[in-house]
Amino acid sequence: MIIDRVRTEATDTGWTRSARIRGRAGDSVVEFHLPHVDGASLRTDLDASCFLAAALLPAMLAGEDIDVDAPVSARVLAGTTEVVTAFARWNPDLRPAAITTGGVVESAPSSPLIGCMFSRGADSMASAVVERPGNEPITHLIHVVGLEPHHSAATREEEVRLARVAGDLMGLPLVVPRTNVRVLTDGRCDWADAHGAALAALALSMDGLFGRVIVPATQAVNELIPFGSSPVLEPNLSSESVAVVHDSVSLDRVGKVWLLARDRPDLLPYLKVCWTEDRPDNCGRCGKCLLTMCALQAADALPLATGFPATIPLDEIQRLRPSPVQTRQHWVNAARALGAEGDRGRTRAVILDALRRSARPGPRERALQWWARVRGERQRINPSWKDPTRGFEWRHHTELLDLLTRGQPTRPVSEVAEEPLVLGRARPRPDDVSQDP
Ligand SMILES: [Zn+2]
Repeated sequence: MIIDRVRTEATDTGWTRSARIRGRAGDSVVEFHLPHVDGASLRTDLDASCFLAAALLPAMLAGEDIDVDAPVSARVLAGTTEVVTAFARWNPDLRPAAITTGGVVESAPSSPLIGCMFSRGADSMASAVVERPGNEPITHLIHVVGLEPHHSAATREEEVRLARVAGDLMGLPLVVPRTNVRVLTDGRCDWADAHGAALAALALSMDGLFGRVIVPATQAVNELIPFGSSPVLEPNLSSESVAVVHDSVSLDRVGKVWLLARDRPDLLPYLKVCWTEDRPDNCGRCGKCLLTMCALQAADALPLATGFPATIPLDEIQRLRPSPVQTRQHWVNAARALGAEGDRGRTRAVILDALRRSARPGPRERALQWWARVRGERQRINPSWKDPTRGFEWRHHTELLDLLTRGQPTRPVSEVAEEPLVLGRARPRPDDVSQDP
């Protein structure tokens, strides 16, 4: 994969950084459109770090090395070793990409501004409001346009307006960059696998505007599994002048909703977690909407979250068969927070029933799973099986399932000895060390 024609051009509203990225999967011009930010100025030296970060997973998916025809940050280049190793360990079919560059970028002072990625989801809203003892406070919210594939122009405009209103309530100005970075991964992998590196790329593209960019965490500390946004990914893509921070993993989704309901209930009307439809509010039927609504009910705050339907459709929860371990853990957390009393208790009972059925389906579901196996649509009859080709999270889930239920990994152990994945070498032994044992 070749990254060339790296440019930064001034526009009426700010700057456009672009590069051509060519490989077996085709040619694309990746762009980051960056607006003016009061009190800061974009660093316009030739620097391809952001495009390198964006190209790592696409290159590995295509089985290609990366040749960058421009300098990159030495720290980003060093950090890519950890990132490509993580990708290769999470999917052993991916070979770590070897990277060559046109030199390194001279380091420059960091901007004092601190941005927080802000989509209006529970993760980003909690990151935007939570107190950060010992750390500098967030100065700006960053709402990226171009990452939601289902949004029409009208929905995008309304999303920006609502993000700005929510920002006003927090006293934080909103910065709205645009990008087409998804062109590198759409149709090639699940966005869940790609989004952390893509957000890190966006953060690097804003060198000079922000010295720290916070990426809100999806997983809590007890839920950490292979996932495209992770404490082992984004921070390793930090440069000398832009720290990419994977935010605290101390709160789970239920805890984040509870924190918002307790401390900032005025923000709940702006909560937007749904990405399945072209709308600025929430569908109220997808798994993410349902889980958030249950968390809101547990905090007695569902009526305040006016972007959701007023009542939880329990029949939709009843139909859910949450399978990956992480998703089941999210639902367990919601059930724990609800308690057995009244309406909350009824929701809890439906969740527990759906969880039970996802592991122990009835005769009809078992027959359907068996039939899907016969038709070649699933590799295992086990109800917890998920298609491992869908991405890091499901691959990990299926590997655990296979090891626990069959005593074998999903990918058979080869008869030919496999060399372990070891990038890097040991330092040479110092000459003056005694050779005595
Ligand atoms: Zn939804």
